[in-house]
Order: sequence, then C-alpha cells, then structure tokens
Amino acid sequence: MGFFSNLFGFGGRDMAVDLGTANTLVYVRGRGIVLSEPSVVAVDARTGEVHAVGVEAKRMLGRTPGTIQAIRPLKDGVIADFDVTEEMLRHFIQRVHQNRFAHPRVVVCVPSGVTGVEKRAVEEACLSAGARQAYPIEEPMAAAIGAGLPVADPTGSMVLDIGGGTSEVAVISLGGIVVSASIRVGGDEMDDAIVSHCKHQHKLLIGQQTAEEVKLEIGSGADMPETVTAEIRGRDMVTGLPKTLSLSSDEVRIALEEPVSQIVAAVKDTLDRTPPELAGDIMDRGITLASGGALLQGMDERLRNECQMPCHLTESPLTCVAVGSGRSLEEFEAIHRMNRSRSNRRRRGRLN
Ligand code: ADP
Ligand code: MG
Repeated sequence: MGFFSNLFGFGGRDMAVDLGTANTLVYVRGRGIVLSEPSVVAVDARTGEVHAVGVEAKRMLGRTPGTIQAIRPLKDGVIADFDVTEEMLRHFIQRVHQNRFAHPRVVVCVPSGVTGVEKRAVEEACLSAGARQAYPIEEPMAAAIGAGLPVADPTGSMVLDIGGGTSEVAVISLGGIVVSASIRVGGDEMDDAIVSHCKHQHKLLIGQQTAEEVKLEIGSGADMPETVTAEIRGRDMVTGLPKTLSLSSDEVRIALEEPVSQIVAAVKDTLDRTPPELAGDIMDRGITLASGGALLQGMDERLRNECQMPCHLTESPLTCVAVGSGRSLEEFEAIHRMNRSRSNRRRRGRLN
C-alpha cells in the first residue's frame, strides 16, 4: 500500500456490506473481508443508548438484565427494528471507515424479503454512515458471483442461499435472475424447531443459543451413518429446576424435518418454474449451496436425493455473499470506466 493510502487509511475505499439476518460482513475494495460480526445490538431499554454491537452483544442474547436488551434488528428476514439496524450499520461502516473525509461508495446486500421501502431505508442508513452512494444488490446474485458461477453467460446456474432468517433460491442466466423464490425459513427456524422439540417432548425449556449449538454439533438434514448425542442444559418445566438432558442426533434430525423440507420444497418449486433449456443446464452443473445454513450436515445429500441432480457447497459458504458483493464492486469500476471511454469516444464523434 502506498504512502497516500496509508496516510488516508482505507477509509476512502469503496466497500460492500452483506447485511445478513444473522451476520454482517464488510468487504473493502483491495483488502477483502475486514469485518464479520453477528447482527446483534445491545441497547439500554430506557435511554436507547447502544451498549455493544456484534460479538459482544451476541453473548448477551437471552442473558440481559431488565434494563438492557440484546436485539437482532433483522430477525425473520425483515428489518424488525429499523432504528437499530441503522445504528448497527453505521457502527460497522464507521469501524472500517477510518477517514471521515473520504466518502466511499457502498454496495449493500439485503435479504430479498425486504420491501422496497426497507431497501431504500438501508441505502439511507449507508449514506448517513458516511457513504457517498449506496447500491443494493440481490442476495442470490451476490451469492452466485461469490461462488464463482458464470452469471454473465447464457447458461443456467442455480443457487440456494440458506441464511439465518431466509432461504433464497434463484436461477441466473445472462446476468439476471430468471426465476426465484424466497421463504422466511432458515437457520433460525431450525433453532426454533429444536427449542420446540425439547419443550414438547422433554418438558425442557432451552434458549435459542443452546438450540443453535445443538444444531451445529449434531444437527443434520439427511440420515447419518452413525448416531451421536449431545448434552444440553435448560429448565425443567415441571420442577422449575435446571436440568441436563442427552439428545440424540436422530431426534434432532426429526425435529429439523419441517424447516428442512420447506427449504427442499422451495427448491423443487423453483425448478418446476425454470424454463426447460435452463433446467437442462442445471441438470449438468447442479445446484450451488451458500450461506451458513448450507453447512447443516447432510443438507447437500438431501437435496441431491430429492431433486435428482448434483448439489455442492461453495468453498466458503459464510463469506460467499460478501465476496460476491465485493466483486460486483470491482466490476462496477470496470463498467464505469467502459461507460466513460464510450462517452469520450462518442464526444469525439466515433459512436453515433
Ligand atoms: P445471514 O446471511 O442471514 O446473516 P449466515 O449466512 O451468516 O446468515 O448464516 C447464519 C446461519 O447459519 C445461522 O442460523 C447459523 O446457525 C447457521 N449455521 C452456521 N454454521 C452452521 C453449521 N455448521 N451447521 C448448521 N447451521 C449453521
Ligand atoms: Mg446472508
């Protein structure tokens, strides 16, 4: 890095933000991913003052005293709390944006379930955090670019993005989304399903965090060669006392069946609506799985069996969307340059 860029920090560099329901990542042009934190904010319930953001705030989820609230502002794939989302976005952008005088352009990836008004609001939040301009990008497109799929070619590529609050499926060809589906079922619903299973089958109340840990440890979306168990702790609903329980992976798979089958159904429905030529391309190339939820054991196998076609995980599912948004940032520059030279040529009278 040269003298000037050191002098000015990388604040002036354009960046891409993957504003996820579970995690937010920031990619800075020329540097790659510089920040990856849970999308959680701890605020004082009385004053609205922010106590902590990211990892620190996530540790407080379900553990706060009455006055502090740990909030996930994008729960369920929508912006549940706009003010807190804006606060969080501003916090993350400013953390990497060291030079207050340089205004970067920001590509921001939002879950496709958000409304037009919310999308506009996210752009506003980027601007108020110091961006010169904000450009929204659709999540499946960012995921496909990040996965290295040939999005610009006249060939069909299918991506399945399983995030925290939503799952999105899309068929992409010639740089555009041809068919897609977005459902409000993702990793969070899997956690909820485990909470509800423990409550109904074992009369044990467990927290969301515990449920997520169980999912990561022994959860699966297809039959596994061996059964394993995990010890979990919660509160016995009958005695009201803390209790430890041993859960088997078979039991967890049954608990996860509903969200998993909803995701599979969304993929099948999208395939059903795919034009035949593109469906043929997808038969050859398969379905690419991205985002955290795709890491559920056996998820790829389950899709392979049910959809009868190849399925594979991207190299780094958790960073794929941020990397793809970042790459679109680089491309942008190329498009911009191309337009500029074209208008120069036009001025010189060679075009038109
Ligand atoms: P978002 O884009 O919505 O922020 P992410 O792509 O960051 O979502 O994925 C977060 C989700 O992925 C969470 O629900 C998390 O529990 C889940 N997840 C992460 N790793 C795994 C894993 N190994 N197995 C199953 N689920 C996982
Ligand atoms: Mg995401």
